[in-house]
Amino acid sequence: MPDISILMVEATPIRFFAGMPSDGKLTDRFGRGLNYLRISVTDRCNMRCDYCRPDADAYKAESHRQILRYEEIERIVRIAAGMGVNKIRITGGEPLVRRDLPILVEKLAHIPGITDISMTSNATLLSKYAQNLAAAGLRRINISIDSLKPLRFRKLTGGELAPVLAGIAAAKAAGLWPIKLNTVLLRGINAGEDCCEVAELIDFAAGHGATIRFIELMPMKQGMDWQKHYISIDEVLQNEAVRARVDVDAPLQMDRQGGNTAARYLPLKNGQGDVGFIMPMSERFCEGCNRLRLTADGGLRSCLPADYQINLRDLIRSGGSDDDIRTVFLRSALIKPEIGVYDFAANTDKRSMIHIGG
Ligand code: SAM
Repeated sequence: MPDISILMVEATPIRFFAGMPSDGKLTDRFGRGLNYLRISVTDRCNMRCDYCRPDADAYKAESHRQILRYEEIERIVRIAAGMGVNKIRITGGEPLVRRDLPILVEKLAHIPGITDISMTSNATLLSKYAQNLAAAGLRRINISIDSLKPLRFRKLTGGELAPVLAGIAAAKAAGLWPIKLNTVLLRGINAGEDCCEVAELIDFAAGHGATIRFIELMPMKQGMDWQKHYISIDEVLQNEAVRARVDVDAPLQMDRQGGNTAARYLPLKNGQGDVGFIMPMSERFCEGCNRLRLTADGGLRSCLPADYQINLRDLIRSGGSDDDIRTVFLRSALIKPEIGVYDFAANTDKRSMIHIGG
């Protein structure tokens, strides 16, 4: 990966940025306001999902020293909030394997301007932490669940299904709401002929009053064989059992809460809610992208598939000022591409999903 951090950390006065709006809100060259920061708090995980880190032993997590400390994350978020970021998602790796996560949530919840804190988790540890997280200020949660069959689940993720189900129940009991379930569609595993679980997963989510979103597999470094396992949402919507539940003729809708610009929804035929689709491969919704990402080791990325990030950790640890950090946010906005492009080269230098933070 080209290291552009050297280019990026020298202090450049903020006024040099043409197009920076006078209200100081982060906006990119295409007029998109960037108000959503996804923060990976660890690149460690207690699962090894085949599409994320198939060769668990080969993946080398960053040392604890390389990972941003909570005070560093808090400082970055405080500055970002001053530039219009109001929405935070905590992710990983598995965020709940990071010690004392509720302490970070509480720090972030007290930052003026931050109005929404959510988390993406595999939920295996949620039974233990849901109450504390909710008390600390976590509002809602997205839970990954790719199969309802315990053996299939174990084979794909290396983990157990039962604690995930308990985690979903604990999240509900703690008032973390809405719960959104995320399923990556994988041909030959949970989608496609003979193994399609999409209808069952829709029923399962409905039974919990939760929304489920199906995600197209993205080709990431160390990810699964994309050519073999990718299946488009369009193909999944041909499935008879799915068509019996989903009104496939209805127009795709944006998120009703207006929060997620990347997902589109179709109504359920029984009138009891809808089903979401995230289509990074077959139909990108980049025009509404409002996101920046902070990796666990302090890289600021403005686009998931783009192959560059700016190193905030070293800037902070070498005494960078708040203005220097602001400048990095502005530069990140400036280099955000109009459209994220995935490449399929097997030998890419790109980071894997677990390294970037999903
Ligand atoms: N450990 C947490 C979890 O399991 O939700 C958070 C991190 S995980 C990387 C975040 C999300 O990224 C999950 O919903 C996961 O399914 C998704 N993801 C990971 N690799 C992916 C890929 N290659 N294509 C599509 N989605 C992917």
